[in-house]
Amino acid sequence: MPDASDEAGVYAALGIPWCPPELREEPFRGEPPRLVEPADIRGDLHLHSDWSGDGKHSLLDVVEAVRARGHSYMAITDHSGGVGMGIGLEPDDVRRQIEAVHRVRETLDGFELLAGCEVDIMGDGSLYLPDDVMAELDWVVASLHVAQRQGADRITKRLIAAAEHPSVDVIGHPSGRLIGKRDGYDFDVEALVEACADHGTFLEINSQPHRLDLRPAHARLALAAGVKLVISTDAHRLSALDYQELGVFMARRAGATRDDIVNARPLAELAGLRKPGRVAQT
Ligand SMILES: [Zn+2]
Ligand SMILES: [Zn+2]
Repeated sequence: MPDASDEAGVYAALGIPWCPPELREEPFRGEPPRLVEPADIRGDLHLHSDWSGDGKHSLLDVVEAVRARGHSYMAITDHSGGVGMGIGLEPDDVRRQIEAVHRVRETLDGFELLAGCEVDIMGDGSLYLPDDVMAELDWVVASLHVAQRQGADRITKRLIAAAEHPSVDVIGHPSGRLIGKRDGYDFDVEALVEACADHGTFLEINSQPHRLDLRPAHARLALAAGVKLVISTDAHRLSALDYQELGVFMARRAGATRDDIVNARPLAELAGLRKPGRVAQT
C-alpha cells in the first residue's frame, strides 16, 4: 500500500503532480505553476496617511509599520481632491507632501519611499490633478469613486482614459464593488484590460475585505492579456496591513505567479515594467 495518508501522498500514489487547490477548477497538464505566496510580496503601493483626511496615522507611522512587515518599499497614495466627503489633497498639498516624502526618505536606510497619490477619475474622464503635478509623482493610482451610476459606456470610457494617461501606473479597485453593499458599476472589463495591455498600465487587486477587487475572474482576464497586477492593502489604518494576504489569495485564484505581480519584485526590477518615463525618482 502506498502512503496516501495526506493529500500529497494521494497525488503521489496516483502518479500525478500535486496541484494547488486554486487551480483545480481548470484542467491543465503537467506540473502546475508555482502560484504567488504572501511571502513573495516586497512592497505596498496603495496606502493612506492622515494627510488626506481619512487615513488614521502619520506618514512616519505608516512607513515604520510597512517596514516592520519586512517590505522594502512603499508608496504613500493619499486621495486627491475630487473624491468628495470633504477630503483629499489639492495640487499645492500634493507638492508639499512630495517634499515631506523627500525629507522622510533621507532618514531611511534600506527602505524606499515613493511619493504617490490616489488620483480621482472625474465624471468627465479627466483626472483630478493637473498633468504637471502627476508627472512629479513617483507612483499614481487612478481610482473611480464619484459618478458611479453613469452607465457602462461612460464608466468604461473614464477607466480607459485613465489607463491611457502617461502618468497613471495602476487603476485602483477597478470594478468598484463593495461586497455586501453593491456589485460595482457596470463596465466593460475586457475593454479596460485591452487598454491596460496596450498602454502598460497595471491593474490592482485591492486587498480590503469589502473590495477584493479585481475579482479572480477579472484578474484572470488581465493575466491572459499580459497585464501585470499590483496587490495592495489600500490601508487607511495600520491594522489593515494584515489584509495583504487576502489579495494574494485572490491572485492565486486567478492563477497568478510571482512574475505576474508587480510588487513581488524588487523596486529596481519594477522600473523595467513601467511606462516610459515612469521611473521612481529615488
Ligand atoms: Zn479608493
Ligand atoms: Zn485608497
